[in-house]
Amino acid sequence: MATSTVENYLKAILHLQEGDEVPTVGRIAEELGVTPGTVTTMMRNLSDEGLIDYIPRKGLKLRSSGRAAALRVVRRHRLIELFLVEVMKLDWSEVHEEAEILEHVVSTRLVDRMDEMLGHPTHDPHGDPIPGKDGKLPATSLQALSSAEPGEYRIVRVSDEDSNLLEWLDGKGLQIGESVMLLRPDAVAGMLELKRRSGGTVHLGDAAADSIFVEIIS
Ligand SMILES: [Zn+2]
Repeated sequence: MATSTVENYLKAILHLQEGDEVPTVGRIAEELGVTPGTVTTMMRNLSDEGLIDYIPRKGLKLRSSGRAAALRVVRRHRLIELFLVEVMKLDWSEVHEEAEILEHVVSTRLVDRMDEMLGHPTHDPHGDPIPGKDGKLPATSLQALSSAEPGEYRIVRVSDEDSNLLEWLDGKGLQIGESVMLLRPDAVAGMLELKRRSGGTVHLGDAAADSIFVEIIS
């Protein structure tokens, strides 16, 4: 089986585990857009290779070697995204798709060089933490804007998967690191209002707010 396929499975399992979800065959199938049967076959292979613990119909989880392999792919993905934005001047809305491909082909040597050129960054352009060379992923406790109470927040992460949302944020000029005051003038309609320090106001719905992550400013 192709390395890229294995890497995508390991990454999907890590993604579910990190999101505090129990990885199941059904959820992995959903994440990767494949049939549950295909996932089951792959889970047996990954288990045979010692990358995951898998008991059919009971559960599955990454073993330490599987987790390390998944984190290496995530490190490549995020460093590539940052390199494409910072060095190659691509827009943050167009780098995820490129990174999805490149993450499977660039060598460790090249990724380490990117890391060095970028000054050993801790976060990618979307605010996701970059796993270290030692395989450590900085812990984060982020809250989705959609579930936040009214108050003052800093935008710290935006999902990299929705390029339309990233373009929309570009259009509004909203950036990672910006502080905003969150108001909920119409909670029933699922509308949020962000008051900016610059004086402007941005309106958005719960769907967009699901993909924007904040930390409270106390
Ligand atoms: Zn990405």
